[in-house]
Amino acid sequence: MLHLTESQLQIQKMARDFANKVIAPRALKLDESEEFPLDIFESMREVGLMGIGVDPAHGGSGGGATETIIAVEEICRAYAGIGTILAVQIGLYGPVISRFGNEAQKKAFLEPLNNGKLVGAFGLTEPNAGSDASALESTATRKGDKYVLNGSKTFISCADGATHFIIAATTDKSKGSKGICILMVPRNSKGFTIKRQHGKIGIIASTTAELFFDNVEVPIANRIGEEDQGYKNLLQVLEVSRMGVAAQATGIAQSALDASLAWAQQRKSFKVPLVQHQGIQFMLAEMATRVEAARLLTHQAAALRDAGKPFSKESSMAKLFAAEAAMWVATKAVQIHGGYGYFKGSIVERCFRDAKITEIYEGTSEVQKMLIAKRLIEGNR
Ligand SMILES: Cc1cc2nc3c(=O)[nH]c(=O)nc-3n(C[C@H](O)[C@H](O)[C@H](O)COP(=O)(O)OP(=O)(O)OC[C@H]3O[C@@H](n4cnc5c(N)ncnc54)[C@H](O)[C@@H]3O)c2cc1C
Repeated sequence: MLHLTESQLQIQKMARDFANKVIAPRALKLDESEEFPLDIFESMREVGLMGIGVDPAHGGSGGGATETIIAVEEICRAYAGIGTILAVQIGLYGPVISRFGNEAQKKAFLEPLNNGKLVGAFGLTEPNAGSDASALESTATRKGDKYVLNGSKTFISCADGATHFIIAATTDKSKGSKGICILMVPRNSKGFTIKRQHGKIGIIASTTAELFFDNVEVPIANRIGEEDQGYKNLLQVLEVSRMGVAAQATGIAQSALDASLAWAQQRKSFKVPLVQHQGIQFMLAEMATRVEAARLLTHQAAALRDAGKPFSKESSMAKLFAAEAAMWVATKAVQIHGGYGYFKGSIVERCFRDAKITEIYEGTSEVQKMLIAKRLIEGNR
């Protein structure tokens, strides 16, 4: 059973009320439009969702991993495309600056996330560097008090609406991961272009794009953290943010379960509601069990992290399990809906498409297994 504090319960209620009122009624249209929903972003900012995990000294409401996963799960329960946007801001973009930025960078690039007009994006993946992100090829060449950035990124969420981009690039390929630094690149930088990638099957509102850098000049003052620590720092952020993906998966699975239970109570076959057939009851029971297990693993990882204890293996376990649970639960949800679940416009077909990404981004299921196995073999419990 989860033991949430009074303030965590308040965040849960705020996020749930917001999701039900603002997101759920528009989920179907948002899933069709392929437009970055700036108005919803602004509404999330207004209610304080963008300040979760941000130090009150920098305009946020504080909190840690637990507050973040609570909010992300609730938003994804209404629509995961918007939940992904929130997770990119408070799970990836914000934490990079919170943890590794200096005071001036926090003022310029973090405070306006909750109190201004800033929209963030996180650019690590490249055409030749996905699961092995350390193979990235974008270069940052020192020239006086600037870096000159060249290269490209692919599959970057929120890029369509983003004003600021966290970009990983290498200063010296021969140094491998130790040559990777993190740069803050404003959207209006000369030589920086963004090209939308259309045709994505799920989390459609989170819009995805390629980024191209052609001799983009970035001041050294925009480097986040030490030059040779960029990759290590990004991995540390990803260790926590993958709990956010586990929370996305849990929200999607819960949504598919909610819709299936309602459908099974209303739809009849053989003269009785579906829910009276034991075969359907068994599916619902197993779906609910997997949703609960996914949530508990995710909260366990977040609680360890918030208590300052080792959490890396548990974070990977939560993402691996929750993502696979979401895919499984969404598949059963379509089954319970029969033909009605196979058409666009039903909640469960959207969950079915949205669930799949949680097995892919921020470290695929295979990458999580590699990380868990590494910890086991090293003897970390
Ligand atoms: C919709 C969407 C949004 C995204 N948003 C962002 C974003 O905002 N920022 C960002 O930086 N990236 C983003 N990504 C990129 C995402 O993180 C990568 O797609 C992911 O890390 C996998 O990389 P890849 O696609 O290159 O697959 P690959 O690395 O080519 O992997 C292909 C397959 O091989 C498997 N595989 C690879 N290596 C091994 C191994 N050693 N052992 C066993 N199996 C292996 C993988 O698990 C996978 O199944 C996004 C991707 C998508 C699709």
